[in-house]
Amino acid sequence: MPTVPDPAPCNQDEQLYECLECGKRLCSSESLAACPGCEGTLQNLSRPRPE
Ligand SMILES: [Zn+2]
Repeated sequence: MPTVPDPAPCNQDEQLYECLECGKRLCSSESLAACPGCEGTLQNLSRPRPE
């Protein structure tokens, strides 16, 4: 499995999502349930921020 480069930069108040269907990554400050491109399932890749 190739090393995944740093994901697209997101603002601090945004979450990084990756589509499980097409692999597209996107940032959103809203909770997304589906990929806007293919409507595939989105996985939230953002880690919880340390308090
Ligand atoms: Zn997709």
